[in-house]
Amino acid sequence: MFLFSTLNDPRSWASSGFEFTLGQPGDFRVVLAEGPEVDRLCEPLKTGSNVSCQNGSVVALNAGKWRFGPTEWDSTLDDYRRYLVNHEVGHLIGQRHPSPRCPDLGAPNAVMEQQTGGLKGCSGNAWPLGWELERAAARPAVLAPLPDWQPEPTPVNLGGLATTTVPVSAAPDPAPTSTAPSVPTSATSAPSTTTTSPPEQFTETSPEETQDDGSSPWGWIVGLVLLIGLFGGGTAWAVAKRRQ
Ligand SMILES: [Zn+2]
Repeated sequence: MFLFSTLNDPRSWASSGFEFTLGQPGDFRVVLAEGPEVDRLCEPLKTGSNVSCQNGSVVALNAGKWRFGPTEWDSTLDDYRRYLVNHEVGHLIGQRHPSPRCPDLGAPNAVMEQQTGGLKGCSGNAWPLGWELERAAARPAVLAPLPDWQPEPTPVNLGGLATTTVPVSAAPDPAPTSTAPSVPTSATSAPSTTTTSPPEQFTETSPEETQDDGSSPWGWIVGLVLLIGLFGGGTAWAVAKRRQ
């Protein structure tokens, strides 16, 4: 499944100590939906039927962007989709938009940069940069922080390649739960269409700010409800956990 193959890729938040698996219903869900539904899920954030958001317990991905990608993108559509998943789930695990977009012209955007609205002189990047992985690994964030929480200072984009992986805690990883099915590794086919994407004006309307209140312990377990119908057909539940 595309969502899990992305999140559990060694280049993604898996390298920060997270695991995302199909599982029982939980407190969080990832939804790929048409613009009006995303707008509803993202309220009071304003997504204008055009962008995606993380809003409390929901990660809502805009199906139009999923189908066509943004107006400006310099890699494959699959790469854009992986960016979208990594970015919004990045918010779910407490990551914020950094600054600057990239330290050197043409260098990769941090995955937590808002790349749907343009690459702004940086290159498109689907995966967390090394420092982003380190930051996510070092910071026990509250999942699904609410948008009205006070944000921490803007992270500094240190640049660097997106291939860096970081060691997770020295503590042994717990064995997978017996109820969790194995994680599919193959990507599902994306919704297909023969129409073309209309030109669109991007406006940054989603605050998406996240905040760690320091109360979350390491080793929490959070459920993700995945509406697979939008990723390939059907409905499924998922569990994500942070390894000790
Ligand atoms: Zn964002």
